[in-house]
Amino acid sequence: MPIHPPEPFRIKVVEPIRLVNRAEREEALRQAGYNVFALRAEDVFIDLLTDSGTGAMSHDQWAALLHGDESYAGARSYERLAEAMQQIFGFRHFMPTHQGRAAESILTALLVKEGQYVPSNMHFDTTDANIRARGGRPVNLVIPQASQPTDRHPFKGNMDIQKLRLFIQDVGVENIPVGMITITNNAGGGQPVSMENLRAVAATYREFGIPFFIDACRFAENAYFIKLREPGYQDKNTLEIAHEIFALADGATMSAKKDAIVNIGGFLAMNDDNLYQNACNELILREGFVTYGGLAGRDLDAMAVGLWEGLDEHYLAYRLGQTAYLAGRLLEKGIPIIEPPGGHAVYLDAGRLFPHIPQSDFPGQALAVELYRQGAIRAVEIGSVMFAHPDPETGEMVYPALELVRLAIPRRVYTQSHLDYVVETIASIAERGEAVRGYRFTYAPDLLRHFTARFEPL
Ligand SMILES: *Cc1c(COP(=O)(O)O)cnc(C)c1O
Repeated sequence: MPIHPPEPFRIKVVEPIRLVNRAEREEALRQAGYNVFALRAEDVFIDLLTDSGTGAMSHDQWAALLHGDESYAGARSYERLAEAMQQIFGFRHFMPTHQGRAAESILTALLVKEGQYVPSNMHFDTTDANIRARGGRPVNLVIPQASQPTDRHPFKGNMDIQKLRLFIQDVGVENIPVGMITITNNAGGGQPVSMENLRAVAATYREFGIPFFIDACRFAENAYFIKLREPGYQDKNTLEIAHEIFALADGATMSAKKDAIVNIGGFLAMNDDNLYQNACNELILREGFVTYGGLAGRDLDAMAVGLWEGLDEHYLAYRLGQTAYLAGRLLEKGIPIIEPPGGHAVYLDAGRLFPHIPQSDFPGQALAVELYRQGAIRAVEIGSVMFAHPDPETGEMVYPALELVRLAIPRRVYTQSHLDYVVETIASIAERGEAVRGYRFTYAPDLLRHFTARFEPL
């Protein structure tokens, strides 16, 4: 296995974590109704629930907080962020928002009308929900390899250009107010999109006159994947690759809680003057004045610094190396995962790990509970708890293709020995896999039930 690039930082401030004992873990699970979202963070040893807003800021980011200019309008913090935005993304306009979904909310409010379609490779769930909230229909047109767990296509986040073209011709351009793509493809495992595919997507949207917006949450990880995997990009730096990506688009949304390595923040960017004017009015209504969005001045400064740190190639080599290291060690132990691993997470295939648990008994949920029970590790089920639903016509349950558990890696937070501990814990769960039983609901709301459902063991 290739050497894992060591952490390109040393640790100056520490946050203690505590491994509570087995009896305490059992009690915590009981009280949480066997739903890891209901656990207290204090009772979690390694928290891999999400990489969103959970990164560790650098000393430069912490120092930048003290430069925060909290003026209501025209703050210096805004100017510093605007400069980073200009140098990295190059769109004519941008506005800060409190997180990614706020940018999506403004964009969809302005563009999407009842019954219209918004294609993408795969929409993230907040984007999907924002489009639906305006009466629109999100459409996912990722390449078919994306749903093959062991297909090692280097750019599994790519869009199927042929399908996109047919789709546009089928529903008509007048019914597509905006076209998108998500880099990397979070809902599809953090898989990257190639530059070649981005160019083809942009050309297709442009041919039909459809504005093209990029969901740019993990643009830096995507840029580094392009450098590593796409012919012709080895000698380009990530900034040059980012320029090439964003020059293809009319705008972007971003949650800065991902590749800008801040705890809160996001933006909406675009070239169109008219759209910007209207977006400013929406922003003022929903988020705040145009120079701060929903954020404090200091948050803008932390973001301005973090955007550059997220593009740093030493950091990215370590970051993608860490995910690859975790995936490689799990494969060595014979643990089924989605291959190849994406940028920000490793997905365990609970369906293959627990073949004796039927989908109706939630194998992914059983694995998420077991991770906590055995190691006080928290991860999220992405399977039937999240997605199974009754068919509106027949009433029969429709189950997702895969039963997954996502191990999301916070940025600059856990060391290699933390990951080794995760590997050993999962290996010990796999050893006695047949003894693990499924779960049933004792409470489940109709919408977004994975957040608040309660369970009991079978
Ligand atoms: C996190 C995320 C969002 C939403 O961002 P929030 O800051 O959580 O609102 C949108 N798209 C993708 C791809 C994401 O990963």
